[in-house]
Amino acid sequence: PISSLLAVVTGANKGIGLETVRQLAVQGVTVILTARDKKRGNDAVSSLQLSNVLFHQLDVRDAHSAAALADFILRKFGKLDILVNNAGASGVVVDVAGLRALNVEPESWLSGKATNLVQGVIQQNYENAVTCLDTNYYGCKRVTEALLPLLKLSSFGAKIVNVSSLRSEIKRIPGEKIRAEVADIGNLSEELIEDVLQRFLEDLKNGNLEAGGWPMMLPSYSMSKVALNAYTRVLAKRHQGMCINCVHPGFVKTDINWNTGVMATEDGAKGPVMLALLPPGGPSGRYFDQTTMAEF
Ligand code: NDP
Repeated sequence: PISSLLAVVTGANKGIGLETVRQLAVQGVTVILTARDKKRGNDAVSSLQLSNVLFHQLDVRDAHSAAALADFILRKFGKLDILVNNAGASGVVVDVAGLRALNVEPESWLSGKATNLVQGVIQQNYENAVTCLDTNYYGCKRVTEALLPLLKLSSFGAKIVNVSSLRSEIKRIPGEKIRAEVADIGNLSEELIEDVLQRFLEDLKNGNLEAGGWPMMLPSYSMSKVALNAYTRVLAKRHQGMCINCVHPGFVKTDINWNTGVMATEDGAKGPVMLALLPPGGPSGRYFDQTTMAEF
């Protein structure tokens, strides 16, 4: 029964993560709402007013924090059924007022129409790129590795949902060689993924992104989600019997896009929730655009 299921959602103090917690909990799943900040996390739990939601601290960039969560779950529940890796960072710092002062709406910049107008207003520096990759790809891997022993103890057939983005789609990478590397399921491994990310950072540092064939729109965010999708496929191959998928939630109005998104979080959470509650034997190693299976 659904009431025997236990889920963890990362980065769940607001946005799509918080709504994913709510939708799972109202269906009867016990949910551990995690957030890096204790106050923001506890406030989010209080806002839901659901007795089957509890808080535990988790900073996906901190291995000790992931280990402490695993230890808590082992002692209190002895297993885990669902992991939603939702925490995310954009990799850019945008001065929205500065952007508007240049007569550029964030929407038009995000859609790629205004890339050359915004020097100095949008910072996509090395430090932001490292934070982005460490949150969106390495963070997901860190938390997944810490919780996998507990997921293996699920008698329901564990589910892992990696919240990705349209920017992850391989066709959006200009470089043919990079596209071929990340599409080659037979050869995908964490080593290969991380080699691609290291080369990306090197080219970013040296101002060679365009020549290197990397995405020019939200480069670090895009590559973090490309890596996340590739990792999803590696994991799915390794853990047959679990359903491990990634999903673009839709363009949702949240802080990550300065609230320029067009969908409500209620709709943005539908894909993650559907994948979290797949029946045993459901699809694995797939990418979904909201609730529909799509091409990587
Ligand atoms: P929000 O900015 O509302 O939420 C992002 C969440 O991630 C926050 O709770 C934030 O916590 C948390 N977070 C960031 N860094 C860490 C960390 N180191 N450890 C733990 N939590 C962290 O954005 P969304 O709800 O939109 O984003 C959720 C996911 O959806 C992300 O993975 C994003 O990439 C993805 N996505 C969103 C789209 C959209 O249109 N909104 C489109 C495509 C994908 P804090 O409050 O502490 O900063």
